[in-house]
Amino acid sequence: MRSAATVKLPTLDPGALPVARPRLPRADDILPYLRRIDDARWYSNFGPLLTELELRLASRFTDGAVAATVVNATQALTLTLQAMDLPAGSLVATPSWTFVATAHAIAQAGLVPWFLDVDHASQMLHPAQVRDQLGRAPGQVSAVLPVAAHGAMPDIEAWLAFREETGLAVLLDAAAAFDAARDARLPTVVSLHATKVLGIGEGGFLVTDDAALAFRVRRMTTYGFNGTREAQIAGTNAKLSEYTAAVGLAALDQWPADRLRFFLAAQHTRIGLAMTPSVVPQLGWGSDWVTSVCVVRLPNGAAQAATETLMAHGVETRRWWGRGCHQDAAFARYPRTALPITERLAQSVIGLPFAIDLARDDVDRVVRALRATPGIA
Ligand SMILES: *Cc1c(COP(=O)(O)O)cnc(C)c1O
Repeated sequence: MRSAATVKLPTLDPGALPVARPRLPRADDILPYLRRIDDARWYSNFGPLLTELELRLASRFTDGAVAATVVNATQALTLTLQAMDLPAGSLVATPSWTFVATAHAIAQAGLVPWFLDVDHASQMLHPAQVRDQLGRAPGQVSAVLPVAAHGAMPDIEAWLAFREETGLAVLLDAAAAFDAARDARLPTVVSLHATKVLGIGEGGFLVTDDAALAFRVRRMTTYGFNGTREAQIAGTNAKLSEYTAAVGLAALDQWPADRLRFFLAAQHTRIGLAMTPSVVPQLGWGSDWVTSVCVVRLPNGAAQAATETLMAHGVETRRWWGRGCHQDAAFARYPRTALPITERLAQSVIGLPFAIDLARDDVDRVVRALRATPGIA
């Protein structure tokens, strides 16, 4: 057995404030759904609970939305790209400023991530900027995969116009945007991972008003079957079980109340951060939409100093998106444009502790530590 001493883990002392403290439905709230599984003796393969979960998820979106659940958002992105039948090896324009799952999903689909820079204010790809780059692409571009930055939605109308004008496929990675994603006119993938705002452990879904696309992805999650035992299209096994669906239904039952709790925690945080005006949350965070993380922008270059000072004060932080995907060894060979804004964001954006039950004392602790950081006012 390997002892803790031989495995190098980041250490956080027991009294420290963790950056995330997920809270999923409690056993008692899941139990009625588990009893339904016992009664039905149906455990996976699109049982009644999963069907109900998909319908309830789709009902959150614009008319005609169909939701297809998948084991996680990363697989949902990969399978959706595959279902789009894009030319093998073609480029998918995507931000480097995202979680690594976005780039992994593109590569796993047999496509090539082409890393573009983001807009400084929104931290997202801007359709006009992508259009300007298309003429300089180092190969055939077949799709664009914008990312909803830390749970904030991009301008959907602008992306619909972009799709119309360029004829390129657009798939939105809205993994962290369970709350803000309500429009299914662009195919959109949302994560239900434990660390996201509506967590079920592991899970994710594609939602789209293109029912054929959703059904294709659903078939791909179950060996390419479609009612018979003949594999009709390429596929895999990426289904959710009835047990996961039980957690999902319990989580949806609680979502209206949980959402308000997240808003309250965000309001406490915003009030605390009024003491440090150079620390700026995302536009609309905690007022128009919520997510499970508190991502703030610090004065240029202060991310490292803040990370160290907060750690010294027992406050954990996280650079959720590292230094941008283009810096990671796994993506070193993929093409990219110049990425000055990504590099700047990587030096100035950090995640502060946040949770559904974040206490005012916790916020005070974070603010005290921020105020002790050189360069932060
Ligand atoms: C969390 C996240 C993912 C991955 O979601 P999983 O469900 O964990 O696979 C992908 N993209 C972004 C932007 C994320 O935040």
